[in-house]
Amino acid sequence: MIDCLFCSIAEKKIPAKIIYEDERVVSFMDIAPANSGHLLVVPKMHYQDIEDIPDNALQELIIRVKKMAKVLGKISQGVNIVQNNKKAAGQAVDHVHFHVIPRYETDTLQFWKSGKYGSEDDMDKIANKLKNIISEMN
Ligand code: AMP
Ligand code: ZN
Repeated sequence: MIDCLFCSIAEKKIPAKIIYEDERVVSFMDIAPANSGHLLVVPKMHYQDIEDIPDNALQELIIRVKKMAKVLGKISQGVNIVQNNKKAAGQAVDHVHFHVIPRYETDTLQFWKSGKYGSEDDMDKIANKLKNIISEMN
């Protein structure tokens, strides 16, 4: 039995402000919002992160993310979709989830600061490394 916050929310063992639910997915208010209306979209089944969730479950999940983005689009001027994987990337809850965050032209939210490569060669090196990984995947 996994001790998981989002499993517990999906199973209604602990309270959350659920705004949408169907057979596969639950969507609820993030308790510490980046902006008012910040939603989480969570599969009812437990998967740790994007690498763990099967393709068909991810397809079902992203369709619900789109639905919630459309909902938030009615109350805001834009929407960010954020998805963190593993501690280094800021994943605090080890149950795969998408953040859907409403945006306003006047807000000051910033998710990352743009950087730059030292040289084009540096950029080519990492690009080639990634292409090699892809070519070795089945
Ligand atoms: P992440 O950092 O991507 O794992 O995001 C986890 C999110 O879960 C954070 O934005 C938290 O604010 C949110 N969160 C943590 N506990 C709860 C809770 N009990 N109800 C709703 N949202 C929560
Ligand atoms: Zn879980």
